[in-house]
Amino acid sequence: MKLYNTMSRRVEDFVPIVPGHVSMYCCGPTVDNYAHIGNLRTYIFEDILKRTLIRAGFDVKHVMNITDVGHLTGDGDDGEDKMEKSARESGRSVWDIAAFYTKAFFRDEEALDIIRPDIVCKATDHIQDMIALIQRLEKGGHTYTAGGNVYFSIDSIDDYGKLARLNLDDLRSGARIEIDSNKKNPKDFVLWFTNSKFEGQAMTWDSPWGRGYPGWHIECSAMSMKYLGEHFDIHCGGIDAIPVHHTNEIAQSEAATGKTWVNYWCHGEFLLMGNAKMSKSSGGFVTLPVLEEKGYDALDYRYFCLTGHYRSQLRFSYEGLDAARSARQGLMDRISQLRAEAEPSPAPSEAAEEYMKAFDDAMENDLGAPSALSILWKMIKDGNLSSSDKLAAAFHMDGILGLSLDKAVPSSEEKVGSEEDLKLLEERTAAKKAKDFKRADEIRDELKRRGYTVKDTPAGAILERIV
Ligand code: AMP
Ligand code: ZN
Repeated sequence: MKLYNTMSRRVEDFVPIVPGHVSMYCCGPTVDNYAHIGNLRTYIFEDILKRTLIRAGFDVKHVMNITDVGHLTGDGDDGEDKMEKSARESGRSVWDIAAFYTKAFFRDEEALDIIRPDIVCKATDHIQDMIALIQRLEKGGHTYTAGGNVYFSIDSIDDYGKLARLNLDDLRSGARIEIDSNKKNPKDFVLWFTNSKFEGQAMTWDSPWGRGYPGWHIECSAMSMKYLGEHFDIHCGGIDAIPVHHTNEIAQSEAATGKTWVNYWCHGEFLLMGNAKMSKSSGGFVTLPVLEEKGYDALDYRYFCLTGHYRSQLRFSYEGLDAARSARQGLMDRISQLRAEAEPSPAPSEAAEEYMKAFDDAMENDLGAPSALSILWKMIKDGNLSSSDKLAAAFHMDGILGLSLDKAVPSSEEKVGSEEDLKLLEERTAAKKAKDFKRADEIRDELKRRGYTVKDTPAGAILERIV
């Protein structure tokens, strides 16, 4: 298995810390609003990564957080708490907002056939873990208090910004206007806010530094270490997390433990709307329910995402989504036809095995989903492969693609024959069931006279026109 590691900027061989096991942490949604389809692109990429690791033989432990406190509208500790803002605008409580959008998020994930993480952890359930981590940092001399808030001092470590390759000298000499005058270094970040920042904050907890609430970054360090240990394999997110969120996660985690925290950093590129990143703050974002209301299936969007490599930007358009929909429907039709003809082969031929291997190789080479999709299509169109081989290979591939190909069954609309012919066919099925084989054969002969052969398929008997 090969993976691009943002830390080294190279595609590397994936070697887990514990042979055969993978520990993987993914930054989860901020539940102040519906996830938009850009966010969902990132979760689809992570799902594909997880499925590929499982296919490669690893036992994967996947942890994802739910950010229900502490994420401000600006990444640099500026702006307003997103949850509070959403509560104020909708007239509901922050807790209602969190519960509502968390439920909506998992509804979307299910519709997209994303495998639920093994552990889903809410920030608000882990405040004590965050406090303990901040105390550890305090003991190590990595924090200071100013204006009631606890800050992480980036000058207390010597490799701040290594993931994003930040040039700290440039940052210091830059003409950045600092909003928070409490900060000794403009890149220092808040570990714990006290009520000095926002009056009337609904979500607050007691802490050694006063009643308040955590900064955004500390939750991911505290929860990932709690569930995966102080050194784990893979950390994922969208690329916008690199310069601030993941940079700060690394700084505080490694300052606390004194050792490397994560071995592989994997980031998904943006979904674009026009020429800009799709974002909640821009207002013009699209959600999965909006696509579904327009008549698209969630899996049309999953297919659309698979047509682009996760490290390339993907521009959203309805024309693009239409193309994905017709490709997916074409695929489902082919699978339905094949299922009308055969069952998946329990022992696929060498040729089928070769297709499956080529597919797995493409996925295991830094998740080459677009190449893997083209291998699937080449296999489906291969005139030398039997229907049962095709089905076996397609279902194998779908273990990673997650397109629910097993839901493709010969549908009633595709049934050949007039109403009367189909009535006869039903009569034959009933006769067979009643073991009246003589009658069943008579009907078959009658249907033959009418120009059909009867085919028994796993989904029931169908008519095929004699040509
Ligand atoms: P949030 O709910 O804002 O915390 O974001 C959830 C995830 O979506 C994070 O991993 C982000 O990096 C990612 N993300 C945000 N915008 C986009 C986008 N336009 N395309 C792809 N991923 C995104
Ligand atoms: Zn995070």
